[in-house]
Amino acid sequence: MIPALMPTYNRADLAFERGEGARLWTVDGRRFLDFGAGIATSSIGHAHPHLTKAIAEQAARVMHVSNLYRIPEAERLAARHVENSFADSVFFGNSGAEANEGMIKAVRKYHAETGHPERYEIICFEGAFHGRTLATLAATGNEKYLAGFGPPVDGFQHVPFDNMNALRSAISEKTAGIMIEPVQGEGGVRPCPDRFLQEIRAVCDEYGLLMALDEVQSGMGRTGKLWAHQWAGIEPDVMSAAKGIAGGFPLGAVFAKEKVAQYLKPGTHGSTYGGNPLACAAGNAVLDVILAPGFLEGVQRVAAHLWRGLEGLAAKHPSVVEGVRGRGLLVGLKLKPEVSNGDMQAAAVAEGLLTVAAGMNVLRLAPPLIITEAEADEAVELLDRACRRMTPSTAKVAAQ
Ligand SMILES: *Cc1c(COP(=O)(O)O)cnc(C)c1O
Repeated sequence: MIPALMPTYNRADLAFERGEGARLWTVDGRRFLDFGAGIATSSIGHAHPHLTKAIAEQAARVMHVSNLYRIPEAERLAARHVENSFADSVFFGNSGAEANEGMIKAVRKYHAETGHPERYEIICFEGAFHGRTLATLAATGNEKYLAGFGPPVDGFQHVPFDNMNALRSAISEKTAGIMIEPVQGEGGVRPCPDRFLQEIRAVCDEYGLLMALDEVQSGMGRTGKLWAHQWAGIEPDVMSAAKGIAGGFPLGAVFAKEKVAQYLKPGTHGSTYGGNPLACAAGNAVLDVILAPGFLEGVQRVAAHLWRGLEGLAAKHPSVVEGVRGRGLLVGLKLKPEVSNGDMQAAAVAEGLLTVAAGMNVLRLAPPLIITEAEADEAVELLDRACRRMTPSTAKVAAQ
């Protein structure tokens, strides 16, 4: 019989009842070090006192009023994000896919309003992930995810990642913009070279295209800067955010320059829950932590420490780990073809460590940004033990 909870996920048989920082405890008392953070989302860890207090206090005052009224918490959160980013204006929704839908609409609307309604196509990249709604599935372009859901939404093309010739030759009179993740997350923790982001910026300027960044996974401090594109010293025209933006409370956002945002007038876009007082109280509390002086430098330091440990691990287990990739605290262990990332993930669970599988046989580590060097060392130690489980003679142990 079908489970009451629709079986759209292959879930691990683990149920958590409590968390604190980078730790989680199951209902049956097992303790885990959480280097998955609910897929790069629990950015400041579990049960962060500042975040839980802000949510509890806001819930006790007023949770939801709708966007028919002013929402001071949303005005404040938007102003703070504007002050700390390239954007002049921010729209709030509830998820990454919804943020990308808004971003795609913003790109199309800009050209329609500036006399080029024929420009609606967006160039995306192989290995991308932009979400599970119909338009974001088309932007993702993964045949496996699209199968069975009818004709894909029109207006998305895919070119190879980090290939300027392919990108240039895909541009036509119908092209509206270029959409890319600064670090491909689901696709296999593949960082986009800074140089490629700079070249995309230049080609967008050359052809009057909009540069649209999907920072749903790479943003909110994950790479050691508030937004990953800041490493490349460029500014997009529009950007989507979600995952870590409210530390696990559902919130998504479209960030835009005024030249784009000015066309999203009343009636053009909306969301009933989007940016409600509770979500924005959570978003503000997360920003308090991430914007505190020294916090992002701390992320860079602990990330450098973790990378040293992981590179040592890769050197020690060349038959399991092919290499380390990613940026900051969005890290991928690229595994040898003989070792499956699913088995490695299960072996890590057996050692008390939570990770997330990604494409291209990569094991993804995306711990809360508040981890200590000692916790990074512990994760490396647990991965070392997991690697030992993966050596051919003992591979069966992990499969138990
Ligand atoms: C997770 C993710 C999404 C989709 O976010 P949802 O909140 O699941 O809709 C979109 N883009 C990127 C880069 C993501 O990592």
